[in-house]
Amino acid sequence: MPDAAIAPRSLPLTDLSEDERMFRDQVRQFAEDRIRPLVAKMDDEARIPRELIDACFELGIMGIEIPEEHGGAAATFFMAVLVVEELARVDASVAVLVDVQNTLVNNALLRWGTEPQRARYFPKLASSWVGAYALSEAGSGSDAFALACRALDRGDHYELNGRKLWITNAGEAELFIVLANVDPSKGYKGITAFLVERSFPGFAVGKKENKLGIRASSTCELILESCRVPKENVLGEVGKGYRIAIETLNEGRIGIGAQMVGVAQGSFEHGLRYAQERQQFGRPIAEFQAVQFLLAELATEIEASRLLTYNAARLRDVGSPFIKEAAIAKLFASRAAEHVTSKVVEIYGGYGFTREYPVEKYYRDQKVGQIYEGTSHMQLAVIAKQILGKRG
Ligand SMILES: Cc1cc2nc3c(=O)[nH]c(=O)nc-3n(C[C@H](O)[C@H](O)[C@H](O)COP(=O)(O)OP(=O)(O)OC[C@H]3O[C@@H](n4cnc5c(N)ncnc54)[C@H](O)[C@@H]3O)c2cc1C
Repeated sequence: MPDAAIAPRSLPLTDLSEDERMFRDQVRQFAEDRIRPLVAKMDDEARIPRELIDACFELGIMGIEIPEEHGGAAATFFMAVLVVEELARVDASVAVLVDVQNTLVNNALLRWGTEPQRARYFPKLASSWVGAYALSEAGSGSDAFALACRALDRGDHYELNGRKLWITNAGEAELFIVLANVDPSKGYKGITAFLVERSFPGFAVGKKENKLGIRASSTCELILESCRVPKENVLGEVGKGYRIAIETLNEGRIGIGAQMVGVAQGSFEHGLRYAQERQQFGRPIAEFQAVQFLLAELATEIEASRLLTYNAARLRDVGSPFIKEAAIAKLFASRAAEHVTSKVVEIYGGYGFTREYPVEKYYRDQKVGQIYEGTSHMQLAVIAKQILGKRG
């Protein structure tokens, strides 16, 4: 994978640098050659084959921002966004596996990891270990800081107890960033992030969810029963986990925006092709103005989603404020994906409603974009807080 060069600010948002274009094309080819043939089977079997995950590692897309000395590609966050979009154009499950790895797990380690933590985990995360990010619980979703998972200081280690729910990649992951509270009397200021290895005593992966969409992506419960975590595995400072949770999700939701752009784009390409092939009343349905205008509307929504998402990612890469832009991008792109994928099912008519054709899967896969990494209500709350200048 090439070195990244951040595109100069004067470039239009969708005008990619040479490195970005080459990388995007390489990932697009990979998605077509290696992922597309497996999409329906992965959805049916609700799993991503390990060989495909290994191929993602070989391509260098599991350690996009990881420094070269630790085996990564030392590229930009924007590159990660391009990768997630391209993968989601073909399969949203593979896209979210790669998204969580890069925008949440690697990102948090990059920002808050100590040098020994990076030296231990980055080479693994760049070459074979899948990562997961565990904040949500049965009783705390949108109200994430109400988490009940506890961490007790046992001198040389912490003991973690509790359960996590909805954890993406948990089926495959070797490393989990787990948020737990060291002192509930301090409220959210007791929340601390821990680097938990799958093999740590007292750690187990529980039930796997049977889902509407992104079925091949594993979403599981985590069970922590006197789970022993060495003190050196605290990520960032004790009591500062709430900042890690907020700040990684602020960035992570740009990745979900990209996933939704990719889902909408992939679905749209099917609709565009089908509209030109399907004949009714003696002509392709694309010759009816109603269908033409619908395609034009959908293309407009996708373009707007992409611009919002690319802008948020580029703002993040140059160190400018991006929180409002990231929330807007996710909110808008996930709504657009719902509309686009729904209308493409209609363009296919009755065929669109069957599992024989690929478009119903895009419709199912998009729905999660309005739920995870903050529901649409939570994105509106973030945007409102930003525009009203509220603190807290
Ligand atoms: C497939 C999948 C994968 C996931 N992966 C992960 C993961 O890897 N790691 C992780 O930590 N979590 C993960 N999650 C959890 C996800 O982030 C939560 O589901 C999400 O934050 C919503 O929480 P909840 O499900 O408890 O819904 P709730 O918070 O109970 O929300 C229910 C409804 O109430 C609304 N609501 C709640 N509070 C307010 C409010 N103050 N104002 C207005 N409306 C409100 C919500 O918007 C929503 O419509 C995943 C979820 C899914 C479905």
